[in-house]
Amino acid sequence: MTDFAHLHVHTIYSFLDGHLRPDAMARACVERGISACAVTDHGHMGGALRVYKALKDVGVKGILGMEAWIGTGHLVLLARDLQGYDNLRALATTHARGPLSLSNVADHARGLYALTACVLGHVPAAVQVRDMDRARSVLRRLVTVFGADNVGVELQFHGPMAPLAPALAELARGEGLDVVATNDVHYLDAKDAEAQNVLMAIRQGHRLRDPRLFQHPSPDYWLKGAQDMHDIPQAQFFQLALANTLKVADKCQLKLDLGKPDLPQFADDENQTLDSYAFHGLVSRALDVNDDYRRRLEYELDVIKTMGYAGYYLIVQDFVNWARAHGVAVGPGRGSGAGSLVAYCLGITDLDPIVHKLFFERFLNPERVSMPDFDIDFAQGGRQSVIDYVVGKYGQEHVGQIATYMTLGPKAAIKDVARVLDVPFSEINEYTRAIPPTIRPKTLEEEEMHVFDLAMSYAPDLVARAGEDAGYAHILALARDLTGCCRQLGKHAGGVVIGRRPIVDYTPLTDDGRTAYDMKDVEAAGLVKFDFLGVKTLDVVDIASRAVGVDVRTLSLDEPAVYATLQDDKNWGVFQIESPGMSRMCVDLVPTCFDDIVAAVALYRPGPKESGMLADFIARKHGRQKVTYPHPLVEAALKDTWGTIVYQEQVMQVAQALAGYTLGGADLLRRAMGKKIAKEMHAQRAKFVDGAVANGVDKTLATEIFNSIEFFSGYSFNRSHAAGYAVISYQTAWLKYHHLVPFTAALLTIEDQDDRGRYVREARAAGVKFLGPDVNVSRAGFLVEDGAVRWGLVAIKGLGDAHLAPLIAGQPYADFFDFVRRSALDGQALKNLIAVGACDRFHHNRASMTATVAAALIDQRQTQLASVSGQMSMGLEVEHRLVDADPWPEGQELEFELKGLGTYVTGHPASLVDGTTPATWDGGREVTGVIVDVFERRVRATGRKWARVTIEDADKHMVALFFADVYAECEKVLVVGRLMRLIGYRNDEGAFVALEVSDADLK
Ligand SMILES: [Zn+2]
Ligand SMILES: [Zn+2]
Repeated sequence: MTDFAHLHVHTIYSFLDGHLRPDAMARACVERGISACAVTDHGHMGGALRVYKALKDVGVKGILGMEAWIGTGHLVLLARDLQGYDNLRALATTHARGPLSLSNVADHARGLYALTACVLGHVPAAVQVRDMDRARSVLRRLVTVFGADNVGVELQFHGPMAPLAPALAELARGEGLDVVATNDVHYLDAKDAEAQNVLMAIRQGHRLRDPRLFQHPSPDYWLKGAQDMHDIPQAQFFQLALANTLKVADKCQLKLDLGKPDLPQFADDENQTLDSYAFHGLVSRALDVNDDYRRRLEYELDVIKTMGYAGYYLIVQDFVNWARAHGVAVGPGRGSGAGSLVAYCLGITDLDPIVHKLFFERFLNPERVSMPDFDIDFAQGGRQSVIDYVVGKYGQEHVGQIATYMTLGPKAAIKDVARVLDVPFSEINEYTRAIPPTIRPKTLEEEEMHVFDLAMSYAPDLVARAGEDAGYAHILALARDLTGCCRQLGKHAGGVVIGRRPIVDYTPLTDDGRTAYDMKDVEAAGLVKFDFLGVKTLDVVDIASRAVGVDVRTLSLDEPAVYATLQDDKNWGVFQIESPGMSRMCVDLVPTCFDDIVAAVALYRPGPKESGMLADFIARKHGRQKVTYPHPLVEAALKDTWGTIVYQEQVMQVAQALAGYTLGGADLLRRAMGKKIAKEMHAQRAKFVDGAVANGVDKTLATEIFNSIEFFSGYSFNRSHAAGYAVISYQTAWLKYHHLVPFTAALLTIEDQDDRGRYVREARAAGVKFLGPDVNVSRAGFLVEDGAVRWGLVAIKGLGDAHLAPLIAGQPYADFFDFVRRSALDGQALKNLIAVGACDRFHHNRASMTATVAAALIDQRQTQLASVSGQMSMGLEVEHRLVDADPWPEGQELEFELKGLGTYVTGHPASLVDGTTPATWDGGREVTGVIVDVFERRVRATGRKWARVTIEDADKHMVALFFADVYAECEKVLVVGRLMRLIGYRNDEGAFVALEVSDADLK
C-alpha cells in the first residue's frame, strides 16, 4: 500500500501563514493514507500538543517539530525522542526572542532530526545560486551538529524548489545523506490556495495585487495524500526521497504521557499537614462539635488524599490565606469548589457547604478521576500582589502566566479580506459596523452554528449585498475560511501555572516568560493551572466595608430589612441582581431569604426563563400554583424550591433518594445528562429505573421522573456557583442598606466612566448628596464628606493617572497660583479641572481662571527651572493677578460639568426653564428634562438603529426608548446636554416609549 509521512507542515499556529486546523488535518491524514504527520510551524510550537492529540485520537503518528530561522535561513527540526522534545522547547523559547544561531542549535541538537527546508533554507538557497561549495559547507556543519544519521536533504516538487531537486539529490549523494521529500503544507486542499494567499497578504499588510507581496507561486502547498505524492510526475525520479519520509518518521519515536499533573511539594507529609489544617479549621469555625461535619470532613479528606490532591489544597489555602492576611479581599468561593467542607475549613471558601446544601462530589468525584479546580476571586487592586507572592514562594522559574492565541474573528476577517481585495475601508466598515467584535452564542442553536454564520446574522445588509454582488460573496467566503486563524499571542486573564520543575520543562515560553502552550495544553503538559481572577465588586465591598469598619465575612445573611430593599426594582449596585430585567424579576419574586437570592441568580437565565421554570418557581413560592412532588422520596430534595428542579445538586439528590445512587454516581448521571451522549444516557436510564424499582417505585413512574429530570437538568444550575455569588449580592445589598453614602462612594470609585452617570442618578434619587470635585480635598477615589459623596479625581475626563499623584501630593493649595505652580499640571488638565468647578474654592469665576492659565503656567515653569538650577529665584517675579473675565453665561458651567463629569453637580439646567417643575414622570405622556445619555443599538434582523435615551431633571431620571421609526426621525436632535420634551406612552413593561421629541424651551 502507498504510504507517506508529511514532515514539513504549517498549521493555523504559524500566525497568518497557514490555515490548516489540527482536527481537519487529523481527519485528512486518515482519509489520505498518511501514516505519520509532523507539525513544523514557524519559530514556535503553540500547536504542537493540539496536533499531537488530534493525530493520536485517529491513530496517526504525530511528530513534533518547528521550522526555525537560523540566522537568515530556514531549518526544519523534528524531535526524535524526549530529549529532542526538551531541546525543541528550549529552542522555541529562545526563538521567541528572535532567530537562532547555529551555536544555539548546537547546544540543543541531541534528539533532533534536521531537514534542510524550503528555498529559504541555507542549503537550497546556495544551490539556487549554484554556489555548491557553500551548500556543501553548510551541510557539513549540520552534520557536525546533528550527526549524519540525523540530517536529511529536503526535496520539494513544486515552486522554486522543484528545479533544484536534481542538484540537491546529487549533493546529498556526495555527502552520504538521505534525501527526504516534503510538500511544505500550509492548507488542507488545493482549493484553499487562494485563501492562503489572502492570509499571507493580510500578514504582510499588502493588497493582493501589490507586486511586493510574497506569495506561493502555485496551489500545491496542500496536505496531499500518499497517492497524490507518488503521482507527482517529478517524484517518479525520486522514489527514495518518498520512501525516506517513512524512515525519518520511524526515527521519531517521541511518546508523550499527557495529562498527569505535577505539583510542587508543599510539605514533607502533605496528607498529614492537610488533616491537621482541616481539623484545626473545623475547630476554629466552631463546627467540630457536630458529628455531621466531622463525618463529612473525614470523608472528603479521605477522597482528597486517595486521589493525591492534598498538595493542591495546601497550595491554594496558602495563597488565599496570605491574601487575606495582607488585606487583599478574597471572594467567598465560586464554582464547584464551594461544595468542599475541607476548603471551607482551610479558609479557601467562606460559605458553609452543609448549610447551603452544596456537594463535594460536584467538585471532586471519587468515581471519576479529574483535576480539582478552584476559581478564586480577588479584589482587582490586590490580585497582582497575590501572584507576586506565589512567584516569590515557588520561584520565578516555576510560575508562569498563560498565553492565549488570539484568532481572526469574523468581523476582523471580513475587514482584512476586504482591504486586501481593494474594497474601500469606509464601504466595508459601514457593512460590518453592526457585528460585535467578539461573538458569544446566546442559545443552544447559536452554539451549534459556525461562528461566522452567527456573525452574519448581525449584518443583514452585508448578506443582502453578497446575494447580488459576486465580489462580496467572494469576500465572505474567504473570510469564513480564515476565521479562527491565529493572529497573535495574548495573555490569559487570570490563569497562572505552578510546576514542580521549572515551567520550561513542560512548555516552551514566550518572549516575556508566559507559557507558549495555551490553557488546555499546559494542563496536558503536566502543569497545574490556578485561576486568579480580579472581580471589581470585591473592591467595592472592600473599600466600603473598610470605610465603615465592618468585616462583611461575619454578616449573618438573614437580615429581613436587607431583603426588603431587594423587593423593588432599585437594585443598582447590588452584585448580580442589578440589571433591569433581574430587578424586575425581584419585584415578582419578592426575595425574603438567602436561598431566594441563590435561586434568583440560578434562574435568571434564558433557559429557565423560556422553559417556564422561572415563572413556575415564582408562582409556587407565592402559592398561586400547587406544590407537588413526583414521589414522596424526592420531597426533601425539592422542598426548598417548591418541587421544582433549579440546581444540578438537586438532580443528584433525586437520583440518590429515589434510585439509590451514590453522590459520586449521581454526579456522573448529571454529567451524562449535560453532555447528552445517547449511549451513556441509555445506561443511566436503565440504572436509574432499576434503582428506583428496587426502592419500591413504580417502573412507569420511575421512567417518567427520569425523563423529567433529564429535561430540567438542561436548565439547572450549579448551586455552589450561585450560592457563592449570592453571598456577594447580600454583602453589597447590606452595605447599600446600612451605609448608603460610603457604599456609593466606593461604587463610583471602582466603576467605569460609562456606568458612573447612571449610578450618580440612582444614588441621587435615593437621597445621596454630591459635592463636586475640589483640588484641595478630592482624592483619586470618591470620599464621604459631611454625609455627602465628594467627587473623586479619577472621574474627571481629561485627567490621567499621571496627573493625580503630584496633584494629591501637593494638597492643600493656598490659592490659584500656588495650585498651578505646585501641582505641575499641564494647561489642558488645568482647564479641565477649572471647567468642572474643581478650582471654585479659590473664589474666582471659572472664566477668569481659565483666562489666567497661560500666565500661571509661566510662573509654574520658572519655579521648575529654579528648582532644577538650584536657585531660589530667577529674579523674574510674575505678578499673581487674575485676568478679569465675565462669568460664563448661564448654563455654560453646567454644560462643562456634564462633559467633564458625565453628570451635573452644582445645579441642573432643567431648573433653568421658567422655574417650573418639569411635567409628569410617572404614567404621564409628557416628560421634560435634559438628555444625558444616548445609547444606540441596532435591530439585529433589520440592521436599523434604535436607542435607549436617558433624560433627567434636577432630581429624577428616566429611560426612554426610541424605536427605529421614531429614532430615524429625531436621531439628529437627540443631543446630550439638550433640554427636551418627550411625548410618548408607558408600555406593558413600564418602559417609556417615545413618539415625539421637541426642544423644551420652544414650548
Ligand atoms: Zn521554509
Ligand atoms: Zn515551511
